[in-house]
Amino acid sequence: MSGISVALRVRPLNSREQGTTAAARCLTVDEAGSSLQYTGRDPPPNANFSFDRVLGEASTQADTFEGLKDTVASVLEGFNATVLAYGQTGSGKTHTLLGDVSSPTERGVVPRAVAELAQGMARYPECRFKVTLSVIEIYNERIKDLLDPAKDNLQVIQDPVRGITVAEATELPVAGERDCVELMQLGIANRAVSATAMNAGSSRSHCVIYVVVEKAHADGRVEFGKLCLVDLAGSERQDKTGAVGQTATEGNLINKSLSALGNVVNALTDPKGGKHIPYRDSKLTRVLQDSLGGTARTVLIICCSPSLFNDAETLSSLRFGVRAKGIQNSVQANAVRRTPEQLAKALAAAQAEVEALKA
Ligand code: ADP
Ligand code: MG
Repeated sequence: MSGISVALRVRPLNSREQGTTAAARCLTVDEAGSSLQYTGRDPPPNANFSFDRVLGEASTQADTFEGLKDTVASVLEGFNATVLAYGQTGSGKTHTLLGDVSSPTERGVVPRAVAELAQGMARYPECRFKVTLSVIEIYNERIKDLLDPAKDNLQVIQDPVRGITVAEATELPVAGERDCVELMQLGIANRAVSATAMNAGSSRSHCVIYVVVEKAHADGRVEFGKLCLVDLAGSERQDKTGAVGQTATEGNLINKSLSALGNVVNALTDPKGGKHIPYRDSKLTRVLQDSLGGTARTVLIICCSPSLFNDAETLSSLRFGVRAKGIQNSVQANAVRRTPEQLAKALAAAQAEVEALKA
């Protein structure tokens, strides 16, 4: 068993916050270490928080990716890996995951991960690789295929080889980083967005990008690994955004998925143990079943604002991260598939052994 890894990333104060009372900070980060202190209003009795990594305001996209490299690379060895970005709207989730995809320094985790995988593949000249991309959105408890928006009610299944899978999601073959980024942008352009008072460009949906790698060895064995990158909807309480009507209903359903996520995290980290894990309570938790308490390697990035204006949301995100640190996964590689010829050979060998034992 190994705990999921939890990183905390603090974005810099933005131009609206600078020079106002909101410029006061609610966090003091120990830049050299992995802890920080909450200095906002209503501090808890212990206001010190520690995580596997703390990325302060000055952290770069490269710093952020550094801590994910091994997790990403394990996909080439037949593991499933998940990177989740959690936090209130405007806290830096999309910046962290995507960033400016065309800038070598400002590109985020996803393009870096694809580049890392491409580099890793070059180390196995004897293997043949097939890489595919899927992009889905969970919106109002429906799963929509962002690479084919006509498919808007996809189902989650447990596949014997691939584990938890969104059935019938379009899988486009990708050749290299640029190809992948272009297709991904196409998908993201289809993401449903509705402006709220809090952030005009804010997204009210959860977006999941899958990069699937199949690695065929010369002897016919096929290894399979899946990288799952999740840009969660804003974790803020609905009342602060001033949403009404249609958007408020969306908020309830988004909160359904997020509160189900909280319930799953609570059940997994319950000190008494043995609890039923309510994965089936929402589409989001079902999609993440492998990643939380399952066999995948998982990194959770808690994104937060340092501004005093956002202190309550930042504290709530810190607490979520602390709870999630207790989640244990039993990391396991996916089953290796064999070709029919290999299976026949293995069967013949076993039969010969049985005959030999009989004799
Ligand atoms: P979210 O996806 O959580 O709603 P965004 O990633 O869109 O938030 O970030 C909100 C704004 O803050 C964007 O303009 C983004 O470019 C900026 N931002 C977020 N994190 C950082 C960072 N670490 N460094 C610089 N700018 C950032
Ligand atoms: Mg975003």
